[in-house]
Amino acid sequence: MSNSKIFVTQPFLPSLEEFTPYLEEIWNNKILTNGGPMHQQLEAALCEYLGVPEIALFNNGTIALLTALQALRIAGEVITTPYSFVATAHSLLWNGIKPVFVDIDPLTLNLDPKKIEAAITPQTTAIMPVHCYGNPCDVKAIEEIATNYNLKVIYDAAHAFGVNDSTGSILRHGDLSALSFHATKVFNTFEGGAIVCPDTKTKQRINNLKNFGIVDEVTVVAPGINGKMSEINAAFGLLQLNHIESALTRRKEIDKFYRTELDKVDGISVVPQSGQAKANYSYFPILVEPSYKLSRDGLYDFLKENGIYSRRYFYPLISEFPMYRGMQSASPANLPIATSIAKKVLCLPIYPSLSDVDLIRIVDWIRKPH
Ligand SMILES: *Cc1c(COP(=O)(O)O)cnc(C)c1O
Repeated sequence: MSNSKIFVTQPFLPSLEEFTPYLEEIWNNKILTNGGPMHQQLEAALCEYLGVPEIALFNNGTIALLTALQALRIAGEVITTPYSFVATAHSLLWNGIKPVFVDIDPLTLNLDPKKIEAAITPQTTAIMPVHCYGNPCDVKAIEEIATNYNLKVIYDAAHAFGVNDSTGSILRHGDLSALSFHATKVFNTFEGGAIVCPDTKTKQRINNLKNFGIVDEVTVVAPGINGKMSEINAAFGLLQLNHIESALTRRKEIDKFYRTELDKVDGISVVPQSGQAKANYSYFPILVEPSYKLSRDGLYDFLKENGIYSRRYFYPLISEFPMYRGMQSASPANLPIATSIAKKVLCLPIYPSLSDVDLIRIVDWIRKPH
């Protein structure tokens, strides 16, 4: 066992037997998609679990982001972070919107509110921050800027499932928040996503947009897309929700173990959690400092040689990919913090079925590269 490969994440799969009754229900209903009973149940269950007013399910997080931008009729320029998964900025390009990259805060690794104002132009219509690794953005400062400049705020909340600050769900901030339920995320529906919305009117518009813009048999009100989640995916979400608390408990144990053990290792610093009343332990990012025995890539390769597949999230920065790097805001000189963090970061394996034996093995290898 201790020689088996350890990946950065493993999908959280309840037993097959547990899924069978859900499948039988779908076979009995003979409704496979288009907002069927499983879809409706999952929306209601997620609103309750997350503590949010309305939620619209999607077939994946990227289509949720694209649709959120459409729903608010965002155009022109949008201020966003280079330190994220590439889908954040891609959702802007797919809507014909110009991303404007702003640097991150060195502690939270989220969009730095102090640097947003300097990037606002007459074309700016919105801000798209990311709650990176589930660490909440400075939502208050971002809201203040948005109010002053009459900008919309769309959070890419793909990492922030179940995260609360002192006032409740982090997903209630901004105009809309988009979630991802991809297989690699804390809560998954194989593929899936959602938009958290403040009221039923907004949800109705989003529901139209995710169903081709169709209102009824003879009425199409917008050039919508097919963003619907199928009944199988929704059923898996309902099953998964039954296990989410135990999954989070195990993640929390792993997080605590890493923090305690890696604190003693010279040259390794653990990215602190900041501002959560309830965290989701979705990632375990460390920074490999120059005082460590190996470079970041050296440690990445060393772990890999020993069967441990860590990931360099987020390297390269989004702003370094060919479709972005020619933009003025993408220059490394504009993004010194993100550029430096991207060279140091490594995300370690964290998932509910990670065993204590494997956890000790990972920490041992980090302690003593030989
Ligand atoms: C996973 C992820 C997405 C994309 O979600 P999909 O469901 O895979 O389309 C977008 N943004 C961030 C930050 C992500 O981590």
